[in-house]
Amino acid sequence: MSIVESLRKLIDPVEAQRREEELKNDRELPRRAHAGDPPRFSCRICGHVDTQSGYCPTCLADTMEREPKNGG
Ligand SMILES: [Zn+2]
Repeated sequence: MSIVESLRKLIDPVEAQRREEELKNDRELPRRAHAGDPPRFSCRICGHVDTQSGYCPTCLADTMEREPKNGG
């Protein structure tokens, strides 16, 4: 638990309790859409792989492309 959550509980226990229940409900819902891995992007020039699209930090250009999903 984060220190923020701890403080919140001290300040407003009712609201904290409600939030906790909301989080629990959220966790218990079946998550079919949840993907195991975040989308990956690779630079088409140098092959640099990152989780962000767009700008390749190596080529300093907008060369990042979404990698195709494996076994999708
Ligand atoms: Zn690159």
